[in-house]
Amino acid sequence: MTLQTRIPSLHRSPTALIAGGAGFIGSHLCDSLLQRGHRVICLDNLFTGSIDNIRPLLNHPHFRFIDHDVREPIEIDDQIERIYSLACPASPRHYQKDPIGTMKTCVLGAINMLELARLKGARILQASTSEVYGDPEVHPQPESYLGNVNPIGPRACYDEGKRAAETLMFDHHRTHGTEIKVARIFNTYGPRMLENDGRVVSNFIVQALRGEPITIYGGGTQTRSFCFVDDLVRGLQLLMESPASVTGPCNLGNPHEVTIETIAREVLTYTESTSPLRFEALPKDDPKRRKPVIDTATRLLGWRPRVALKDGLQATIAYFALRIADETPTLVP
Ligand code: NAD
Ligand code: UDP
Repeated sequence: MTLQTRIPSLHRSPTALIAGGAGFIGSHLCDSLLQRGHRVICLDNLFTGSIDNIRPLLNHPHFRFIDHDVREPIEIDDQIERIYSLACPASPRHYQKDPIGTMKTCVLGAINMLELARLKGARILQASTSEVYGDPEVHPQPESYLGNVNPIGPRACYDEGKRAAETLMFDHHRTHGTEIKVARIFNTYGPRMLENDGRVVSNFIVQALRGEPITIYGGGTQTRSFCFVDDLVRGLQLLMESPASVTGPCNLGNPHEVTIETIAREVLTYTESTSPLRFEALPKDDPKRRKPVIDTATRLLGWRPRVALKDGLQATIAYFALRIADETPTLVP
């Protein structure tokens, strides 16, 4: 028997449900939707999210937090117009900790959110990922590229889970006529990433601020293209509110491609840190390069990123500097 959680009705429409709303991207999305007059239901099991991210919202009359695991079905009495399906650990460190759980989160989470969308007649957006392209043999990556994923490697729980979630979205669309939006999100960074998140931008900034060695995996020549979270959140909302005929998949990312060593050096410059670089082993199946083609988003949504890497890094550094200052113990004389 599956566990059914029934939540009593609290609000009238218009309501957006954000699964994964206490996470890095999800919490910024909660802020933005509330500012735009939505009611927001945030569904999260706090696996990699944090109440701190949504604490200022907890007393907001149009905000509700529900502690729930998307691997379990849920019934909610409220009318719901929009579902953002973001619940899933995104950092390799966290999604590889419980790979079977990650695959279930991707697949059962998508099934349960799609079922809710069908019952409510809601439109649903699935947070997919550039990882569906795997270690890409086509560069840069357009949505038409079918990808190069190793289905049995350590990243597969996430990559294949997200591919299956995309499949479920399109099958629900064809079978039930559900209005779907699939966003393929490329590396995104900004305030509210976890200090122990394990992803490159947060790792490098925290290491630089603490004066610890900057851990570069491999030679540092691998590339990524980093999008600031405000740009991404704007793109997600534009995609959600685009005409019903726009289903995606739609790449959302910043096409400014940089090597990992460049990121390390920029972080050192902006933090004025003297941390040394320490080269460590490259994780298995680590993609060599990644850069989105964003013509679809530009043409259909009028979206392109606005925040330059330098400005985004400086905003993120300012966030972590405050957190790290808070955790520094006061010396008692
Ligand atoms: P995050 O880890 O900060 O947020 C994920 C949130 O989902 C967390 O609050 C976590 O507690 C919650 N969650 C995880 N498993 C859950 C479960 N079983 N039930 C309920 N809640 C659960 O990650 P993020 O960077 O904010 O990513 C958000 C979404 O965007 C994810 O789906 C991720 O795959 C996708 N994405 C992110 C990036 C990126 O660079 N940040 C890139 C591509 C795709
Ligand atoms: N990386 C690194 N040092 C770190 C963390 C990550 O060199 O401390 C590298 C990692 O091997 C990868 C890139 O940075 O090549 C981006 O890693 P991240 O985990 O942020 O994202 P993803 O690999 O999922 O794109």
